[in-house]
Amino acid sequence: TNTPHYPEQVTGMYILARALKNVGIETVYGLVGIPITEAAYMIQGQGIRFVGFRHEQQAGMAAATDGFLTKKPGVLMTVSSLGFMNGLTATANATVNCYPMIQISGASDPAMVDMNMGTYEQLDQFNTAKPVVKAAFRCSKAEDIPSAVARAYRAAVSGRPGGVYIDMTTPALGQVMNREDAEKLLYQPVDIYSPVAPNQESVDRAVKLLASAKRPAILLGKGAAYAQIDDKIKTLIEKHNIPYLPMSMAKGLMPDAGPLSALSCRSTIMQKADVVMIIGARLNWMLSFGKGKWNPDMKFIQLDVEPQEMDVNVPIAAPVVGDMGLALDAILAKLSVASMSTDPAWLSALQAETKEKNVKFQARLAANKGTMPMDHWTAIGIIKPILESNPDIILVNEGANTLDDTRVAIDMSLPRHRIDCATWAIMGMGMGSVVGAAVASGKQVVAIEGDSAFGFSGMDFSTICRFNLPVTVVILNNGGIYNGIGVPMDKTSDPAPTTLDINARYDKLGEAFGAQTYYVQTPEELKKALTESIASKKPCLIDVQLAADSGKESGHIGYLNPAPLQNIT
Ligand code: ADP
Ligand code: MG
Repeated sequence: TNTPHYPEQVTGMYILARALKNVGIETVYGLVGIPITEAAYMIQGQGIRFVGFRHEQQAGMAAATDGFLTKKPGVLMTVSSLGFMNGLTATANATVNCYPMIQISGASDPAMVDMNMGTYEQLDQFNTAKPVVKAAFRCSKAEDIPSAVARAYRAAVSGRPGGVYIDMTTPALGQVMNREDAEKLLYQPVDIYSPVAPNQESVDRAVKLLASAKRPAILLGKGAAYAQIDDKIKTLIEKHNIPYLPMSMAKGLMPDAGPLSALSCRSTIMQKADVVMIIGARLNWMLSFGKGKWNPDMKFIQLDVEPQEMDVNVPIAAPVVGDMGLALDAILAKLSVASMSTDPAWLSALQAETKEKNVKFQARLAANKGTMPMDHWTAIGIIKPILESNPDIILVNEGANTLDDTRVAIDMSLPRHRIDCATWAIMGMGMGSVVGAAVASGKQVVAIEGDSAFGFSGMDFSTICRFNLPVTVVILNNGGIYNGIGVPMDKTSDPAPTTLDINARYDKLGEAFGAQTYYVQTPEELKKALTESIASKKPCLIDVQLAADSGKESGHIGYLNPAPLQNIT
């Protein structure tokens, strides 16, 4: 027969789906619309999960959390203009926190954008993204898509991890190619993550300094948790008897309640240690920039993949630049137990202080045990033993007082099981992070949220329900930002800027999406609700009624306000 033969054809959308598959992406988080809807279907067609959200920022928080937990870039997909910008907030936050992620946004034809022709959703997204991401690529042709995806992956995970943007233009997505030509473009990048070792001289210098310390300590940051080098860190600490102090998302990398944990001795470490080895943390605002409260004669060893992190706020005596897994291999090979000069009194003093602080803390919880209506400590006193006896649950935590008090109270015993507002101390990471954590790990997740914090992402509780994730969201409702008491000002009858709704029934919001919900007013009710929720492994929401006056303005960081808050003290 003489049937004419036409070559089979595919579009840029198909090439994108295949390119993502080729680099090993398992999940895409996003929110569809023109021009990415069909691409999302094609992504599902490749066997990649597409987790659809209600707001792009939360899809981005999910991608970032996935990136933090897996060491592979989390992928966010959005539409153009506002969808792009909503997502970009999460990508910028990921970059600041060194989480690897890739934001792919549909974009108008750049030829029309450049000529300001007023095309649909016109915005120069490429240049808007550039200043807040680690790298940016624009695909104007379908042929460029595989290379953009591979390079975005490399950029996201290599060196200091971060957020990468791909401007996926409508012409590229819609471009038709012969399948045979398209297949030739698709390739599997070789050695897509390639760690670089530090130089031996820097390792020797660090070993010498650490071994000479009388009062050494190790400061663990979320970079150390991210790097997935748990055994090496454990060996360094336990074999050489070095006390450790974790930053909030490094909690659990070594057990918070372990014998060498100096979690309750932060000030003592800052003031009295003579050598501090910083592993995957930055001497930024959270650590008083390494000054002020710190012993001015402190000698720092710093392990970081980013050379520009060295000497940022204080001189680093022994910088070790390179992948920290390789750095620790080299350090462990050189550091002998016999060479350590630690003063045994240093360790026993830290242990005595820890014991004393624990007694004080238990007394504080006991004092608030029966407070009615409940305050933060009453509620957290109930939550603490339940979560600590379920160590494999991932804890997501945001709020002001809810964040501060939960972080202090709940001991973590496994690495990468605590996800919080991190470096920018932002609110509005909750529901997205919960979904990213549950999807990426397959584990159960509990979120402890302030009522204000929950408000930023609350609608994406529906995503938890749609994907039937084993997640419990606990909302500590004190009816406001910081607290719900507000301060009436003479010229208005409007609610105070800090006032939300002490009578809000967040449980009913959960009901709308078919979750198992609870409204609790007493410690006994909270205990029952949380225990049942965890056992159910289903989407659950618990609205915890607190007193409106529980919690202080700005939580623990009121000092960051431009001046003391005169009217509302
Ligand atoms: P924290 O907030 O817990 O103090 P930061 O986010 O400030 O943590 O610091 C994390 C640090 O870890 C960053 O400086 C980053 O460059 C570094 N880092 C991340 N991954 C690696 C790695 N694989 N090897 C070395 N350093 C890393
Ligand atoms: Mg509140």
